[in-house]
Amino acid sequence: MSSEPRPASPPAEPLLRVEGLTKHFPVLKGFLRRRVGTVRAVDDVSFTLGRKKTLAVVGESGCGKTTAGRALLRLVEPDKGHVWFRGKDVPTLGADELRDMRRHMQIIFQDPFSSLNPRHTIGQIVGRPLVLHGVAANMVEAEEQVRDLLARVGLQPKYISRYPHEFSGGQRQRIGIARAIALRPDFVVCDEAVSALDVSVRAQVLNLLMDLQEEFGLSYVFVTHDLSVVRHIADDVVVMYLGQIVERAPRDSLFARPSHPYTQALLSAAPEPDPAKRRKRIVLAGDVPSPMNVPSGCRFHTRCPLAFDRCRVDTPAQHTVADGHVVACHLYEGRIEPIDLAAAVADRAAV
Ligand code: SF4
Repeated sequence: MSSEPRPASPPAEPLLRVEGLTKHFPVLKGFLRRRVGTVRAVDDVSFTLGRKKTLAVVGESGCGKTTAGRALLRLVEPDKGHVWFRGKDVPTLGADELRDMRRHMQIIFQDPFSSLNPRHTIGQIVGRPLVLHGVAANMVEAEEQVRDLLARVGLQPKYISRYPHEFSGGQRQRIGIARAIALRPDFVVCDEAVSALDVSVRAQVLNLLMDLQEEFGLSYVFVTHDLSVVRHIADDVVVMYLGQIVERAPRDSLFARPSHPYTQALLSAAPEPDPAKRRKRIVLAGDVPSPMNVPSGCRFHTRCPLAFDRCRVDTPAQHTVADGHVVACHLYEGRIEPIDLAAAVADRAAV
C-alpha cells in the first residue's frame, strides 16, 4: 500500500462567486437630461458566499452596500462583473432564464411597511410566487402551503385572509420572510431586514432567520449598518467604503483584529457589551465624500488619520493579514499586525 499522502480534496465550490461587480449611475440634469456626472455606487467588488453561510456587508449609508445586494439579483442591472450562481453567470441570463433563476435567489427588504402590497391579503402575497413559478396551479392550491409557511415563520395560519395593515412591523417582516422562502431558495439577500424593527423584535426576527437557515440550508447576504447584527448572525464580513471593499474577513477575525483604519473607526463607535473589550472611540474627520466625486488613490484618504502622500495617488492593493482576512491599505504592505489607529492618532496629536 502506498504511504503517499492522499491529495487534499479541492475546496468546496462556493454557492455564490462575485467577481468585479460594478454599478455606476448617470447623473442627469436639465430639460434635455444631459449627463453631468456619475455616481460610482459599486466599483469592482468581489467576494464568495459558502453554502449555509451568512456574509454581512457593512458600511455607512451611501457606501454602496444596498446597490451591491440588489445587483446580485439584478434588481439593479450591474454594468460589469460576474455573479456565478448554480453554474451560471447571472448578469448574462436572458429574461426567461433570469425568471427561473429568481426562484433560487430572493430578497427581504428593509421596510416591511412598503414592501407588501396593501391591497393584497397575506395569502395572495405569500402564495403569488408559488403560482407564478408553477409550484401551485392556482391560489386555492397554494393555500395549504401558505398556511404552512405562516406557521413556519411564527404567524397564525388563520391570518391568511388579513391585510398588511392589520399587522405590527415585526409581523410584517415575518410575512416578507414567508414570501422570500416560499420557493425554497438557496440564497436570500436581507437588505437591512431588521433595521426598522424595535430591538426586542429585531432579536426574534434574527433568530427566526437563523433557524430557517438551519432548516432549509439557506445562505444569506446580509446588508446592514448595524455591527451588533453582524456579530449575531455573520460567518464572514465585508466592509465597504465608497463603493469598494476595504476589508474582508471571517467574523471573529474581523472583531478580534480589525485592521483597516476605517474598520477600526467603525468598530470603535459600536456598542460593546464587554467592558474589557471596549475600544477607544475614534472620531473620523468630515463626512463620507460624494460617490459622484470619489477621491483619487485610496478613497478613504480624505478622512484617514494615517494618510500619507502615496495614499492620495495609488489605489491600495489587497493584503492578506490572516487566514481569509484581507485589507486594502498601503500600511499592510509587508505587515500583518493590526495598526493601533487610536494610539497613532493620539501620538500625532501629541506632536
Ligand atoms: Fe489610510 Fe492610506 Fe491606508 Fe488608505 S491606504 S486607509 S489613506 S493609510
